[in-house]
Amino acid sequence: MSIIDDIKSVAKTIQQAGNIELYQKILDLQGQALEVVEESNRLRNENHELKEKLKIKEQLKHERNSYWLESNGKNDGPFCSRCWDVDKNLVRMHPGGNPAYYHCPNCKAGSVLVKPELDPPVMTQNYHNFE
Ligand SMILES: [Zn+2]
Repeated sequence: MSIIDDIKSVAKTIQQAGNIELYQKILDLQGQALEVVEESNRLRNENHELKEKLKIKEQLKHERNSYWLESNGKNDGPFCSRCWDVDKNLVRMHPGGNPAYYHCPNCKAGSVLVKPELDPPVMTQNYHNFE
């Protein structure tokens, strides 16, 4: 039985006894108890979310202008550095037209060079032949 159910049970007994003043007090108490229970639930949920974010933070590493999750020896990502740094939201970045560049679908912070090895090389090797 919850604390709210206990208070309701007491309130019913007081109502049956006909003590209006005490009945009003127990109704006020019931309202306050409800607020405490709701606040407790809110804090429990917030604590759960913070623990999840702390777990993520411990696995995050910043590399190549983005965040990567390291778990079981594998890299997952890239994730947007702006969204994590500012809002603590882990947002997976999407590849653009150039496979070396990724962008964030949430904050639209612009393209980020995440995979420079995939960026097409600039053709410069024959320039010295055109003197
Ligand atoms: Zn973002």
